[in-house]
Amino acid sequence: MKKIGIISDIHGNLHSFESVISALGKEGVDEVWCLGDIVGYGAFPRECIELAKETCSIILGGNHDLAVASKISLSEFNYEAREAVEWTVEQLEESEIKFLGELEPIKKISVLNFTVLLSHGSPVNPVWEYVFTGADAARAFYAMEAEGVSICFLGHSHVQMVAAERNGEVAIERPEKFSIEKNKMVILNPGSVGQPRDYDPRAAYIVLHNDYQIEFRRVEYDVDAAAKAIVEAGLPPFLAARLKTGY
Ligand code: ZN
Repeated sequence: MKKIGIISDIHGNLHSFESVISALGKEGVDEVWCLGDIVGYGAFPRECIELAKETCSIILGGNHDLAVASKISLSEFNYEAREAVEWTVEQLEESEIKFLGELEPIKKISVLNFTVLLSHGSPVNPVWEYVFTGADAARAFYAMEAEGVSICFLGHSHVQMVAAERNGEVAIERPEKFSIEKNKMVILNPGSVGQPRDYDPRAAYIVLHNDYQIEFRRVEYDVDAAAKAIVEAGLPPFLAARLKTGY
């Protein structure tokens, strides 16, 4: 019996990360996969790196992780994201920066008789490209076909969702449960642990069961404490405010 927790976009939010890890412990998962962006925005990058190393069997690199490690340019980041990357670099040890810089943004794995693509953003461009719309997902499906996979878990948008074919079109849905079917193209996003942007401030994750049933979950955490720590760290106050609205 294998059960897997899938998480993404922790963004230095230790309060939400601890809540999710504790919830996954209660769920009895055998493994946790992280789809990237351990750091950036939140006040606890070091603690989140440590907890990710302790608890996750697979960790991808997101755009924030790679920017902190100077592997990608800061020019595409907005003001708050850039400030947060620069602040995060100052907090980390050399070895932690090196760890982030070595993370890959995309990985193909075999599990439970399926081959699955794990990617931070769209497999079209796993570091930068978002999957928000049916059109984004349709483009991603081509990239998945080129890799010979029909199932992709990805993060980056901070929005929990499924993209699947419905009557010849690619539709975005937000169900609580979903059944993966062999050879049907599907993209699943667990949402964000540390900075949800789907108007629900609770931390988000996925539980993948061994019969390929998916459950989308949310868990409460101490949003006020995480927000207060962001302000006290001198990070842009907007990064604290958006945790409370979940957007
Ligand atoms: Zn992110």
